[in-house]
Amino acid sequence: MSDKSVQVALRIRPLVPSEISKGCKNVFEVYPSLNQVKIKNTDKAFTYNYVFEPSTTQDYVYETCVKGMIENLFNGYNVTVLAYGQTGSGKTHTMGTTYNGEGEMGVIPRAITEIFNTVRENFVYDVSVTVSFVELYQETLYDLLAEKSRDQCILDIREDPSKGVVIPGLTQVQVDSTQSVFQALIRGSSSRATGATNMNAQSSRSHAIFSVNMTMINKKDGNEKTAKFHLVDLAGSERPKKTGAVGTTFKEGVNINKGLLVLGNVISALADEKQQHGYISYRDSNLTRLLKDSLGGNSITLMIACVSPADYNIDESISTLRYADRAR
Ligand code: ADP
Ligand code: MG
Repeated sequence: MSDKSVQVALRIRPLVPSEISKGCKNVFEVYPSLNQVKIKNTDKAFTYNYVFEPSTTQDYVYETCVKGMIENLFNGYNVTVLAYGQTGSGKTHTMGTTYNGEGEMGVIPRAITEIFNTVRENFVYDVSVTVSFVELYQETLYDLLAEKSRDQCILDIREDPSKGVVIPGLTQVQVDSTQSVFQALIRGSSSRATGATNMNAQSSRSHAIFSVNMTMINKKDGNEKTAKFHLVDLAGSERPKKTGAVGTTFKEGVNINKGLLVLGNVISALADEKQQHGYISYRDSNLTRLLKDSLGGNSITLMIACVSPADYNIDESISTLRYADRAR
């Protein structure tokens, strides 16, 4: 296990066709061996645990910074991977939240495949795996795998002294194969609320949290251990102004930023050893309440900050670089 409980990766996606047709230029200079990124024509430079340039493949991202975390799950540690960034920066592509069998898989389907491969090779434990999928929209938590209609499946977050964070009534789907997890993923992401803004028609202003819960029972002595793996596709980090949003949409933006703000505070407190034993404000947002026993303590967190390389997006990209910098 790494000595740092929070790791930060920066992923710069390639220019997309709409940026190329606008004549956008790449603003980043990457020094992969130093894990450093510089903004051209400025003296701004940032260093992270990992920096992935636009040509980096899905496979490389997974192999470099996620694969190693899976082993920790089998040792009973909770693991969290978060994708942060403005709408259109590559969060869903990186996480593979909407994976439907086409194209290059993102983190979630690769991690699931790895988990089942490990389960099959494991002679020490009987492992049972369930998955859940929730959406957090304006501090309201929805069960994406419930059979009921959306407004009938609003959930509460509670804290149990022995079990940690619990969500009463949450649908847990028992899964025994990669294929059954993919089905849950497709079902959940199709019921996820999306709203159109003029920045990206598929823009998502909610957090999507896909969780893998593992119970491992030692075949010899019957001892049981559990681990949770949260894979989080965060809401777009852009400030509401840029999307041209008005009315309720603006309020939504403000609320979402509060969740991301509290998450930023929690993660930066965790990254700062001096603050580790002090007060960490998990209770200030439902996002951090939900992740409380999977951030810090005996858990391992990777934040993948996603940015567009386009000069057009430079303000939002710098704001993402700064957010990610506080988490180191
Ligand atoms: P977000 O979830 O942050 O809003 P998406 O993951 O939907 O962003 O990505 C926005 C667009 O950019 C999509 O068309 C996606 O296919 C493309 N894209 C994102 N990352 C990459 C990448 N690394 N390589 C190629 N295309 C990418
Ligand atoms: Mg997305």
